Amino acid sequence: MLDLKSACYVQVAVPVPMRQLFTYQVPAALQSPPLKIGERVIVPFAGRNLVAVVMHISDQCDIAEHKLKAITTRQSDEYFFSSQELTFLQQCAAYYHHPIGEVFHQALPKLLRQSKTIDIESTELYHVNKSSARCDVPLLQALQKKAPKQFALYQLIAQHQGITWAEIRSLGYSKAQLNGLYNKTLIITKKAEDKSFTWSSCQLNTQDKLSLSVEQALVVSSVLQSQTQFHCHLLEGITGSGKTEVYLQIIEAVLAQNKQVLVIVPEIGLTPQTLNRFEQRFNLPIYLHHSGLNDGERLQTWLAAKKGSAAIIIGTRSAVFSPLVNAGIIIVDEEHDNSLKQQDSFRYHGRDLAILRAKQLNIPIILGSATPSFESLHNALSGKYHHHRLLKRPSKSKEAKIELVNMAEQISEYGLSETLKFEIKQTLARQEQVLIFLNRRGFAPALSCQECHEIIACQRCNKAYTLHQQQQLLICHHCGSQKRVPKQCFQCGSVRLLPLGQGTEQLEQKLSELFTHYSAVRIDRDSTRRKGALAKLLQEVSDKKHQLLIGTQMLAKGHHFPDVTLVAVLDVDGALFSYDFRAAEQMAQLLIQVAGRAGRASKPGKVLVQTRYPQHPLLQDLIHNGYHHFAQQALIERKLAKLPPFSYQVLIRAEANYPHYPEAFLRALTQQSLAHCEYAGPVPAPMEKKAGKYRFHLIVQSPQRKALHFAIKILLDNIKSNPLNNKVRWSIDVDPADLSW
Ligand SMILES: [Zn+2]
Ligand SMILES: [Zn+2]
Repeated sequence: MLDLKSACYVQVAVPVPMRQLFTYQVPAALQSPPLKIGERVIVPFAGRNLVAVVMHISDQCDIAEHKLKAITTRQSDEYFFSSQELTFLQQCAAYYHHPIGEVFHQALPKLLRQSKTIDIESTELYHVNKSSARCDVPLLQALQKKAPKQFALYQLIAQHQGITWAEIRSLGYSKAQLNGLYNKTLIITKKAEDKSFTWSSCQLNTQDKLSLSVEQALVVSSVLQSQTQFHCHLLEGITGSGKTEVYLQIIEAVLAQNKQVLVIVPEIGLTPQTLNRFEQRFNLPIYLHHSGLNDGERLQTWLAAKKGSAAIIIGTRSAVFSPLVNAGIIIVDEEHDNSLKQQDSFRYHGRDLAILRAKQLNIPIILGSATPSFESLHNALSGKYHHHRLLKRPSKSKEAKIELVNMAEQISEYGLSETLKFEIKQTLARQEQVLIFLNRRGFAPALSCQECHEIIACQRCNKAYTLHQQQQLLICHHCGSQKRVPKQCFQCGSVRLLPLGQGTEQLEQKLSELFTHYSAVRIDRDSTRRKGALAKLLQEVSDKKHQLLIGTQMLAKGHHFPDVTLVAVLDVDGALFSYDFRAAEQMAQLLIQVAGRAGRASKPGKVLVQTRYPQHPLLQDLIHNGYHHFAQQALIERKLAKLPPFSYQVLIRAEANYPHYPEAFLRALTQQSLAHCEYAGPVPAPMEKKAGKYRFHLIVQSPQRKALHFAIKILLDNIKSNPLNNKVRWSIDVDPADLSW
């Protein structure tokens, strides 16, 4: 007789780009202890062994026995997904229409995605050696004189008993400095504890706790008033208004209830000061999550979240997947920042998923920014979020002034106006530093006349055409209409038609030629790819080894440069006339962020913005009325144009070796009529050819999110039968944040 007990099947999520689950048999030998939903198992898949996640368990199966494969191993460890995590990740997959197996993969630390079993050693925490501290006063005094950096590290460790090497490194200290202290027996190591952290008043260092202004205190009490349920708070505070202190005091109250805190930031390496303040304030285990950690460190953070031993987790966007057991609050700082959105594979937005997570956990979430995204601002203004504003600066420091340089009236060389060159000279002569932004993002090759400054625009949409140099075409990214690049300006007949933003490429070289006695340094993704490179460069800047800093948007994030008193933004015109409707928003955020970071009370900063369109209403509004007013005006325009946040978008990207394929692939999709949705495109991507592949875009837009999601399901179904399905690579981007590629 057949033993019914031995029939067991599982449906698992496999990390492959397919939107389905796969069924496997469970051999009798692997059936006890009973399988759990959320467990990791190893399955054979297309000749490989992959880590899959169990989604359903059944004793029946419709598929013929001989067609089924069996799971090979169970990863019988304690690292499985809880039902709450599973629900959250399924919601993530559904929202972004992304294969669930890949979503699980994203949520797991790398070491748990591998088929080999791992042995985890618990983290080493550094403490001050209390017995040596008492008797070694002379040693410490000598240290303070001879090795100030080591001394500073000693103080940090003393302030925060029990700190990991990962944190110490993120704060800009070296292994040599740590070893120096260790060899002098000034510090010792202890193993991290596995149990949940517990709060007592000694966990708080009160020395640097600031007394709150009335504005700040109101925010703290309002957030804490409803601590035990979901509320989304937008904290819009001008730069320098003390958002961090507000966070810290709210966190204190949450920790006092032994609940965990998740803080999501765009980039940790750029905000060591903020991390330092967390370290100094709380004597509790703080764990980091960012790309600078090694695999073991990432797993440690994941486990500490799951066991409850991590009190605070500070991380970049993927920290949103931390398996918190006892979450009390989520904070997303610099919520407007574009790096919170993942730009490949699983294209999720860290902020949006954090809101979804908080809702599921029924806890409050705070979104903080001096320049909130239009999405968040719209939700706050319409009453969906609680809106808090901080309008005063507790410190006496002033925001730098933004001044426009009219490039239409100036002779410029490689994008440098006479005014700017003069100001740079003056600043350098005063021994102060200059920061120059190359505004690559939002660089839209719109075509403009060099004589009358007319922008060549689509008559139908009244929006600038985007120049596609390769095909010598002007294409409207709103309606898809195209025309040959004209030889002459329609307005004045001039033949001097040039793309906006040209000439910045050679800028770096030109700068070092012009200012030979000063050191110029470039800080962007390329120059900071190596581990520790960013911390090193930032240290060199604060040590004043470099006087001219050249950077991209990356430098506008959080970092404060007190000796930078001149900031120049070379070209904002690309952003004013971009096919990407978010370009102006991002340009404004950049300007306000840098204006808030340059200079200090004793040395006020200046921000110079070069433009050929100084009368542009958006620029005028931003400079005279500030970001909040600018944003409200721009939101009115968005509403009229039916653009997000007043509608919802999905971008379908397609690429192939021949331009015909992606275009035909996308055009075939547009044959499907969709209720309450409209198509924009297909159009060539602004960067239409990359790595030998031709790339096209199709946007599907709807005023109703539900209708759009329904439409994507239909389109995904249609893609299966699309004749070009196997000839193009395509992807789906829900709520796309970057239309440039
Ligand atoms: Zn003209
Ligand atoms: Zn048009």
